[in-house]
Amino acid sequence: MASIEPVAERSLLDLTFASLEGVLVAAGLPAVHARALWRALHHDLAENLSGRADFVPPLRRWLHEAMGPAKAYELAFPTPVADIASADGLTRKFLLRLADGQTVETVLMAYDGRHTACLSTQAGCAMGCVFCATGQMGFVRHLTPGEIVAQVRHVQLAQRVAGKPGLRNLVLMGMGEPLHNYDSVMTALEIITDRRGLNLGPSKITISTVGVVPGILRLAAENQPYQLAVSLHGATEEERSALVPASRRWPLAELMAACRTYFAQTGRRIFFEWTLIAGVNDSVGHAARLADLLAGLDAHVNLIPLNPTGGFSGGPTQQAAAKAFQAVLKQAGFPSTIRQRRGIDVAAGCGQLRAEKSRRSAVTARG
Ligand code: SF4
Repeated sequence: MASIEPVAERSLLDLTFASLEGVLVAAGLPAVHARALWRALHHDLAENLSGRADFVPPLRRWLHEAMGPAKAYELAFPTPVADIASADGLTRKFLLRLADGQTVETVLMAYDGRHTACLSTQAGCAMGCVFCATGQMGFVRHLTPGEIVAQVRHVQLAQRVAGKPGLRNLVLMGMGEPLHNYDSVMTALEIITDRRGLNLGPSKITISTVGVVPGILRLAAENQPYQLAVSLHGATEEERSALVPASRRWPLAELMAACRTYFAQTGRRIFFEWTLIAGVNDSVGHAARLADLLAGLDAHVNLIPLNPTGGFSGGPTQQAAAKAFQAVLKQAGFPSTIRQRRGIDVAAGCGQLRAEKSRRSAVTARG
């Protein structure tokens, strides 16, 4: 068997099935041994690879060497810092600490009998949406594929321990902009959708973007099988760029052209996210402008009353105004959903738990 060169440590969770096979073959093992290792990692959700009866001796020897002093590979998992359930029991939020001390949030939602995890793709975020706690903290770094996969494993294990059903849906709507970390996200999703392991259906996975045009065009060109959600929040350039600074880089007209290209190439419905902020973007006039903007697209609009954050003074739209907004969209032929503001008591808005924890640590340190 070829010896393992000491290279920068890399997580086994970063590897797709094909790259795991390649690594084993390069080490002189038959590719078929990847199956048992993959099963242990992504099906059994093993946290320890030693002493497994299904590993043949050459695979055990390779793991011993690879994860030993050569330190070519590691298998580290994020440490839970907080695990908080909402009062209604339908939302559970995990704050996970990564190897370098960064913390990210992962949320489990159990509405209508479906279990959905909301994943983070970056520590912090560069997009700076004014109403978002993550945007307010700025960009720190991209997550690796393994750090994204580890969030799914964490939630699946929590469900297993609680005797609850496994995840059915994923939304990449937590901390960070997924299309700003395109390659890591696509690798992670390839791992997560692999039928031999975590086996989540690609059509049950939604990538949410604030409007990173090159990423949308790449999704279309590669015909990636995931759902696309685009956060709009404003239907004119002026209104949108006041809430979403990324709109100055990828203007609304360019974004909508990319959405039309995406729809023409994939034929897939696009979900548009609209955070309803009282007195800012929630009038029937705003709804009419949104309907005009979406004309000709197969679109579904998700209306999300704002989750208030400390760094933004806006408040959520009341139910009556949200219904009036929805009626205008319906009249124009666009289906929409008003999301219920659940999980407020666990700071379920993106980045809020991390911000809350940092604030408490600062207060404790000062006290
Ligand atoms: S809403 Fe999303 S894209 Fe905007 S700052 Fe927050 S995490 Fe980033």
